[in-house]
Amino acid sequence: MPKLIKINASFTCECCGRKVRPHPEGSCRDHCPYCLCSKHMDHELPGDRKSSCGATMEPVAAARDAKRDIVIFYRCQNNDKLFRVKMAPDDNWQKIVELTTVPTPEK
Ligand SMILES: [Zn+2]
Ligand SMILES: [Zn+2]
Repeated sequence: MPKLIKINASFTCECCGRKVRPHPEGSCRDHCPYCLCSKHMDHELPGDRKSSCGATMEPVAAARDAKRDIVIFYRCQNNDKLFRVKMAPDDNWQKIVELTTVPTPEK
């Protein structure tokens, strides 16, 4: 049996090495708020944690969605899979702003 992964847990970021606290609003902590890197853990649906990939996913762009939430687009470095996740309230805002200047990979 694979180890069960707690979705909103603290973890140490594999990219910048900083300790990441759980999401301040109790939502899914799926990326590092400092360097915004994520890890390929979901297979088809956000939060299903069914992927065995585990490779680093780098943020490639950010944009406002229809609900005016900011979403971050990720691409897996291992298999090019694209993901989009909601920004967390304590994400590095300067990095988000930089990413919004990049064209999004999908609409
Ligand atoms: Zn990080
Ligand atoms: Zn992957």
